[in-house]
This record gives sequence, structure tokens and C-alpha cells, in this order.
Amino acid sequence: MAAPRLRRATQRLFAMSAVRGRLRRVYSTSHAFAEVLQLPKKQMTKLLYPLQELEQYLAPDSRSDLHLRIFDPSLETIARADTIFTATARNRIDYLSSAVRLDHAPDLPWPEVCFIGRSNVGKSSLIKALFSLAPEVEVRVSKKPGHTKKMNFFRVGKYFTLVDMPGYGYRSPKDFVDMVEAYLKERTNLKRTFLLVDSVVGIQKTDNIAIEMCEEFALPYVMVLTKIDKSSKGHLLKQVLQIQKFVNTQTQGCFPQLFPISAVTYSGIHLLRCFIANITGNLN
Ligand code: GDP
Repeated sequence: MAAPRLRRATQRLFAMSAVRGRLRRVYSTSHAFAEVLQLPKKQMTKLLYPLQELEQYLAPDSRSDLHLRIFDPSLETIARADTIFTATARNRIDYLSSAVRLDHAPDLPWPEVCFIGRSNVGKSSLIKALFSLAPEVEVRVSKKPGHTKKMNFFRVGKYFTLVDMPGYGYRSPKDFVDMVEAYLKERTNLKRTFLLVDSVVGIQKTDNIAIEMCEEFALPYVMVLTKIDKSSKGHLLKQVLQIQKFVNTQTQGCFPQLFPISAVTYSGIHLLRCFIANITGNLN
């Protein structure tokens, strides 16, 4: 009888060390992530799973209907996604080109994601944070009034392309809607649109134009709440619950989970990288 038990124990041991070995391999390619793993648990949760941190402030049983977290990857999966965003000689992450019209956009074979939001919502800061593991990448910002705003295309290795769309709202170019509308409607390799909302002020009138566009074209889109470091936990939780309710009751195409982020503390950035890697089919 001792032999099968010993065999099972040996198999378990082997499996555990295989998992540890796999984790070590993943983490060793991501120096930044190795540092994340050194953080105390509370800080690590705040950085990697900001919604989980916020949930602790909900009264127990008060919102049993509320499921804030649907995409809830493991540490190993988050670390794997980070390697996709890490520039190496074999994984080139570059600015490709800019376009003012869809027919000037590069014809690319990879799945694509795009980022849209009001001017000043924190879009350039978020894209810079997402690309912080590729410090050579220059996120171009053209904010001077009167300057033509463009769609900027970035390539992430052989995995996907990321498009930084011009900001809308105050002083947005006259042809903004035409440009963005044509892109959203006709870009066949577009996998997901990330719509940025400032968590301090919530959804604004101008954001509704973008939301209506995504809904009208039946696009799958995701709401990202920016600048979460600027609010108290109470204010942030209030905004999250309000926007979550809006998403659940007023939208069809919006992913039913919000992504709160801060480009200053990097809270939520790893999770967002992981979501992007996942929906572009790169974590299978
Ligand atoms: P864009 O116009 O949407 O590209 O916005 P920017 O990325 O240029 O950000 C607009 C302003 O908000 C700048 O002053 C940024 O420093 C600030 N900002 C952007 N993201 C954050 C954030 O996560 N936290 C804080 N505290 N400030 C931010």
C-alpha cells in the first residue's frame, strides 16, 4: 500500500515544483513583475487588482447582485501578459505611423485595440504606462490647439497593434467624428475599443457621443476609469458603482467590468495589459 501513496506524493511534489519552475521562468523574463511579487500583500492587491481592494469597502451582503470582477486572472497569467509588453530584440514594440484618415491607416495583419476618450482624460499617460516595459516607445502627443490630431499606430511584437485615437470634446478637430466614426465602423481587425472615463468626474456629456457610437456600431468596448489615485476610496467606490450601474442597464456592447487605473501609481495597469493580451488571443 505504501508504494501507490509514495507515487502520489511524488507526483504531487513533481507537479508543485513544475508550477514553481514555470512561475520562475515567467517572472524571470519580467524583471518588473519580480519586483511586484516582493510587495506586501495589501500593496500588491491594490496594484494588481484595484477592484478587489475597493470591494472590501462594500458592506457585506449589501450588494449580493453585484459582480464587479469577471476577468480575474492569476498572478502567473498577469506575469505572462507583462512579457508580451516587454520590448526585447525578439519582441519589437514600436510606434509605426500616424493617419488623419482611415484610408491612410496602415494595413496590418495583427488584431488591433484602440483607445478613445475626452481630451485630458489621461489617455497619453495611460498608453505611456502600458508601454513602460518598452521605454524606447515614444507616445506622441499633439495638444496645441489648431494642430491636426491623428490616429497613432503602435505595434506590439507579433501580437497586436494599439491605436491612440485623437481626444474628443473641447477643441477637438471638426472632422473628429468623421475620422473616428469611419475607423470604428470599418476597421476589420479592431478587436476592442477602450473608452476612457475620468474617475474624478464620471461620465460626461461628450463621453455619451463615444458611447452612442460604440453602441450604434455594435462594437465590443470596455470602460477604463482613469486617475484613480486622485480620489478618496469613498468617492471612487461611489463612481464605480454609478458607472457599473450605467453599464449594466444602459449598454449592450460594454464589457460588464470596469478597469480602474492610475498612470501615477500604476494601479490596474498590469491587469489591463493582461486583458488586452487576452482579448487579442495571445494568452491561449
Ligand atoms: P490626454 O489628453 O487624454 O492624453 O491626457 P494626459 O495623459 O495628457 O493627461 C492629462 C492630465 O492629467 C496631465 O496633467 C496628466 O499628468 C494628468 N494625469 C493623467 N493620468 C493621471 C493619473 O492617473 N493620475 C493623476 N493624478 N494625474 C493624471
